[in-house]
Amino acid sequence: MSEIKVGRPTVMRNVNKNIILKIIRKKSISKIELSRISGLKPPTVSNIINELLLEDTIEYCGKGDINKNGGPKPDLYKLNNKKHFFVGIDISRKKINGIIVDIEENIIARDFTDIKIDESVSVTKKIVNLINMLLNKSGLQLEKIFSVTISVAALVNVNESKIIESDIPELNGFDIKQLKESLASVEVYLDNDINLLLMGYNFENALCIGIRSGIGLGIITNGTIIRGEKGVSGNLNHYYANGDKLCKCGNIGCFETVLGEEALIELLSDYLKNDNVTIQDFYDTLLRNDTELISRVEKSLYQLAVFIGRMIQIFNPTHILIGGEIFYYCERLFDYIVSSSSEFYNHRAFDKDNFIKIQFQDETIANCAARYAVNEYFKL
Ligand SMILES: [Zn+2]
Repeated sequence: MSEIKVGRPTVMRNVNKNIILKIIRKKSISKIELSRISGLKPPTVSNIINELLLEDTIEYCGKGDINKNGGPKPDLYKLNNKKHFFVGIDISRKKINGIIVDIEENIIARDFTDIKIDESVSVTKKIVNLINMLLNKSGLQLEKIFSVTISVAALVNVNESKIIESDIPELNGFDIKQLKESLASVEVYLDNDINLLLMGYNFENALCIGIRSGIGLGIITNGTIIRGEKGVSGNLNHYYANGDKLCKCGNIGCFETVLGEEALIELLSDYLKNDNVTIQDFYDTLLRNDTELISRVEKSLYQLAVFIGRMIQIFNPTHILIGGEIFYYCERLFDYIVSSSSEFYNHRAFDKDNFIKIQFQDETIANCAARYAVNEYFKL
């Protein structure tokens, strides 16, 4: 009991400080308004403001409007956007994208590196080099970085910060400990790309479907990401998709055999009667608006649309994020998913205007990873 009593004032102070910070995050504000919104007494607000000013977390930013009661104009405070910075890194099959944002989520620097550029250099080293490039561009020192969030197209055990499985060969043996040591112990988070997308958007109830190196589903419900016992929840690669081909897992008809990269190459190969086609040929043909190929892809996407419709009915999300190169090269396929899935949910459960198309090629995920880190900062 005595331990609880001793701890309580500090805990309360931190809780109150956090309440104030969350309000200041939204807008520049005066002490009186902070007191009114937070319900904290004016002297408590004053003490917290002094503390936050002293540690440079917030700054004075001028006078507010004239007080309604005729008093002096109040001092306004805002977050100091030069105190803490956040790095988001996204590792995909081709590139490592990096971004630095400030506490107001403004992008300060962006850069990328080719993941295959030098096979003798480990992914850890490539990430460190990329962060150094970002620091150079932004003119910041490493000490200013509050945390680094790494997004990977892989199944991740978040508790142990370990990659369980990935189709990206460079990620095998990736060790976050080594990375932390290279970054002078800056806090490093590791998570799956789809989950970081959902958390970066800060939705309370949403689903995300991504066709990347694999096919993934992310679920956030009441603000919590669903991961499952072993962290493999949402792996759709081996979810039955009504296909008829043998999958490498031993089962027949998994999503991977219908929408995985090899399946898409085979689809084009069958269509063109040509065994020498690549995934880029597939995307180029889509881009040319080849209607026959598009209708073949739609057949493959149908089971995904059915699946999305059913998930909407079960989880009742506000938004659904959908990303994948096939939608980037062919807008019509995204529209197809939106309209086909709508036959499988009740329209009270979801508004179809709330499908959001996500870009995977650019810095979107790196940006979400950095935004996730900012959100975490305000949860401290
Ligand atoms: Zn399988």
